[in-house]
This record gives sequence, C-alpha cells and structure tokens, in this order.
Amino acid sequence: MITSSLAERLREAQHVVVFTGAGASAESGIPTFRDALTGLWERFDPAQLATSDAFRADPSLCWGWYEWRRHKVLQAQPNGAHFAIAELASRVPKLTVVTQNVDDLHERAGSQNVVHLHGSLHSPRCIDCGQAHTLSLASDALPGDGSRIEPPRCSACSGYVRPGVVWFGEMLPEGAWSVGLAAAEECDVFLSIGTSGIVYPAAELPLRALGRGATVVHINPAQFKVSSQEHFLQGPASVMMQSLLREAFGDHPVS
Ligand code: NAD
Ligand code: ZN
Repeated sequence: MITSSLAERLREAQHVVVFTGAGASAESGIPTFRDALTGLWERFDPAQLATSDAFRADPSLCWGWYEWRRHKVLQAQPNGAHFAIAELASRVPKLTVVTQNVDDLHERAGSQNVVHLHGSLHSPRCIDCGQAHTLSLASDALPGDGSRIEPPRCSACSGYVRPGVVWFGEMLPEGAWSVGLAAAEECDVFLSIGTSGIVYPAAELPLRALGRGATVVHINPAQFKVSSQEHFLQGPASVMMQSLLREAFGDHPVS
C-alpha cells in the first residue's frame, strides 16, 4: 500500500534511484528469466546459455538465443513503468536509473544516462579482440524459436562476435558498477522494480541504500519478504509506478 508518508518521502526526495530488473520489461512482452524459455527454448536453462563457456561450446545455439531475444526487444515498446520512470525525472531534483536489463526500453521511454549493469543486447563485440560489431536493426526477421544462428565474424581478427551482455561469472562494467553503487549510497529514495534480487552483485544495491538510511521500496507482483524498514508494493510495475507518481505528485497524466 502506498502510504501518505511514502508519497511524501518521494515528493521530498533530493535523489531517487530507480533500480530495475526483468520484471520492469515484462509488460512490454519481454520474458523474465523465469519465463524466458518458451517453446523450443524450454529445453535449455537460461543460466546455461548465459556463460562464456556456453558460447564457446556451442556458439550458434547461444547466439541464436540472443538474436531471438534482441529481435523480441526490437519489436517491443516501452510500457507504463518505463514512461512513469522517465516522467519521475522531471519531478525530482535528481534521478538515476540503474538497470539489470539488457534491453533499451528505458531509453526509448525517454530516460537519460541509464546505467546498464549487465550490458546491452545491442552492443555485441568480438569475443577475442573486443572490437565492437554493428548489427542490423531490422525487426522484421524474428528468428524462429529455438533457431541456431552462426555468429558473425569480427572484421579485425575473424573471431566470433559475442553478445554485449554480462554473463554469469563475468565482472560488471566497472564504470556502470561504480556509478550505480555511488548513487545507491547517496540517494534518499531507492525504488527496486521487478527484480528477483538473486543476481549479485547487482542485488547488493538495495542493501547498500538501506544501510545508508534511504527509503527502499520494492515493486513486484510476486510477494516476497522484506525487512521491517523496507516497503513492499505488490503489483505490476506499470500500475504501481503510475499510482506512486499520482500519490506523490498529484493527478498529472503520465505521458
Ligand atoms: P528475474 O527474471 O530473475 O526476475 C524478474 C522479477 O520480475 C521476478 O521477481 C518477477 O516476479 C517480477 N515481475 C514479473 N512481472 C512483473 C511486472 N509486471 N512488474 C514487476 N515485476 C514483475 O530478473 P532479474 O531480477 O532482472 O535478474 C535476472 C537477470 O536476467 C538479470 O541479470 C537481467 O540482466 C537478465 N534479464 C534481462 C531481461 C531484459 O533485459 N528485459 C530479461 C530477462 C532476463
Ligand atoms: Zn576480433
């Protein structure tokens, strides 16, 4: 429940951090990890596809999965949660958006300087020499569910091109992590939206914010336990974010 004191905290906040996980994009039709593997992909464990060992063992299988995900994102539109987050930036002195998502739906909703802790589906690079590779933006050719696709080759060293996402066992991009951590430790309100909170170190950010005395709010349709100092708003990200904005800032339409 959005209490009046929570609405007031948000209204008076100097620096808000919005921290998003896959659930923030769920209403745009981008599957979360839990329901990522539909159809033929059900045969695979996402954690098994999201490692450099998986890529090296079967580049076409791994690349095919990421191409399927990239095309789903290209065909998707930002949802009410992405728009409410972009709108919030104009209501508070400072807003930092830190996402675990590898899509670009925050940017397409109007958020700026989004911190991508886990990289992006849209910035692939050579697995051997690291050179960036440009992919076509065509959204019409959604690869078939479960397709194997041979990855492109690097124009510099002819190594395989790999997705620009952070895989399990890899370091987070240093700049993104330090900006995210500093924001979590400095903010007075921290909104954690649509994340299961099990992927570390990202999941540490709400704890850091709480440790520094911020008001921490979790938004998720699936109830989970939070400490007595934290707030839990149960419901879909779009509905809860729009209600939060309405409660805190009045009845302005969210663009
Ligand atoms: P997760 O899949 O582990 O958890 C998603 C969470 O979202 C769950 O707690 C679920 O209950 C919640 N959720 C579902 N629908 C929701 C809605 N409408 N509103 C709010 N919450 C909703 O995802 P995670 O915590 O982000 O961590 C897993 C990893 O998966 C991350 O590293 C992320 O990079 C990656 N991932 C990214 C995307 C994407 O970029 N869109 C999609 C799938 C997975
Ligand atoms: Zn190369």
